[in-house]
Formats: sequence, C-alpha cells, structure tokens
Amino acid sequence: MSKEKIALVTGANKGIGYEVAAGLGALGWRVGVGARDQTRRDTAVEKLRAAGTDAFGVPLDVTDDASVAAAAELIAAQAGGLDVLVNNAAINGVTGDTPQTPTTVDPATVRAIVETNVIGVIRVTNAMLPMLRSSASPRIVNISSSVGSLTLQTTPGIDMGPVPAAYLASKTFLNAVTVQYVKELSDTNILINSGCPGLTATDFTGFYGDRTPQQGAAIAIRLATLPDDGPTGGFFNDAGAVPW
Ligand code: NAP
Repeated sequence: MSKEKIALVTGANKGIGYEVAAGLGALGWRVGVGARDQTRRDTAVEKLRAAGTDAFGVPLDVTDDASVAAAAELIAAQAGGLDVLVNNAAINGVTGDTPQTPTTVDPATVRAIVETNVIGVIRVTNAMLPMLRSSASPRIVNISSSVGSLTLQTTPGIDMGPVPAAYLASKTFLNAVTVQYVKELSDTNILINSGCPGLTATDFTGFYGDRTPQQGAAIAIRLATLPDDGPTGGFFNDAGAVPW
C-alpha cells in the first residue's frame, strides 16, 4: 500500500478551502486544516472528521511569520511531512474600505490584500518548502482567479467587470510570483500550478455566483492530485488552460 498523502489547505475552515480539504480527505489523504480562528478551525475539523476525513487543525494566519513557522513545526511533528500545499486563503477587501477603483482605492486596502493574497502565499510556501522537497510527489496549488489574467484583462471584447485595483491586482501579482517559483524550482520534482475556481457562491462573493464551493474546489483537487508526469507552470480552470 502506498504511503498516506499529507496536504495543507490554507483558509480551510469555510468556502472553497473547506471543500478542497473534504475532497482530498475523501481520497484517503490526511489533511491539515489551516485556519486562523480556533473556533472556526475546530468546527471545520470536527465536521470533516465526522464525514470520514483524517483532518487535523493547523493554527495558521498567513500574514504572521510566527504563526506560519509554528504551523510548519506542527505539521512536521503531527504528520511527519507534507506532500501538497494548497494556497487558498485570501481576502478581497477590508472592513470599511473605499471602492477599489485605481483612482479611489485606499493604499491601506491594497497593502492588506497583498499581505494576505501574495506575501501570505510566499510566507507559507517558503515555510513548507523543506517538507515538500522531501516528498516523493510534491505539489503546490495556488488559488488564483481569471480576473488576475493580464491577457484577459487586456483582450478587446472581454469584459472582466469593474477594475478592483487591490483584489484583482493581487491575483495578477500572485500569478507573477507563481511563475517565478516555477522557474526557480524547475530542477525539482515539485509540480506548481495555479487554479481558478470560477465565480463561486461563498462569503467572499456575498454568496453570488452559480458555482457551489464543491464545484469551485474541483480544480484545486485536480491540480493537487496530478500524476508525476502532470503539467507544471500552468494556470487552469475546469475548462482547461487560462492565459496568464
Ligand atoms: P471565503 O469563503 O471567504 O474563504 C476564505 C478563507 O481564507 C477563509 O477560510 C478565511 O478565514 C481565510 N483567510 C483569510 N485571511 C486569512 C489569513 N490571514 N490567514 C489564514 N486564513 C485566512 O472565500 P472563497 O470564495 O472560498 O475563496 C477561496 C479562494 O478562491 C481565494 O483565494 C479566492 O481569491 C479564490 N477565488 C474565489 C472565487 C469565488 O468566486 N468565490 C473566484 C475566484 C477565486 P476566516 O474565516 O478566518 O476569514
């Protein structure tokens, strides 16, 4: 029998992240539920366990160096390693912020969103990298969004909606960072890809969107479970490749 796979999903207490954890758990994986709030984390872990997932709670605030370092130590101690990292946690605004159009956006909003959506991914990835390097089939999945695609944003005739200078640009920034990780780690066996869940009804969208969190999670689960000869350096949704 092959060794049980270990995954960490950031922001796994609700929404798409929770369903990624549930989906990997249903495959028999052991899943670290990365979440910053103890009550929400415990509730999610209990629910996942009740559904048969081998879940364990990982206290994790992706904006906090000490929290991320402690999360890596906890995973090493409790699971003995890590095969797959799903960078899912993100925010799309801060309480009381102004509209995110470039001419109105509060710089503090941009800073907060980038801290979570981009620097948070770098912080968590670098902390988990030593364990991923030791895995036989390591994967990194960054949850991005097609709204972050510069190609789609600049293609005449494609309407990407309003231009949120903070959230949208944070996903463009994340895409650029993902490409740089792919280049630097090209001599390793780590497959690194980005996924777009599609417009999904979660807290994030005020429950607007025609996709369920389970549907939104499907692309991350596919990228987390790629075979060893699977793609790396790609950006995908359920329909196929998304242009960077
Ligand atoms: P969600 O329901 O709001 O969930 C976001 C998760 O991130 C929550 O668990 C939240 O935890 C966590 N989080 C936020 N800041 C964090 C921090 N500093 N440290 C740790 N965890 C933190 O959103 P979602 O719709 O599932 O979105 C998940 C991912 O999909 C995001 O990357 C988002 O950009 C992407 N996405 C979503 C859509 C969509 O239509 N929903 C479309 C494209 C891409 P708390 O509960 O503690 O706040």
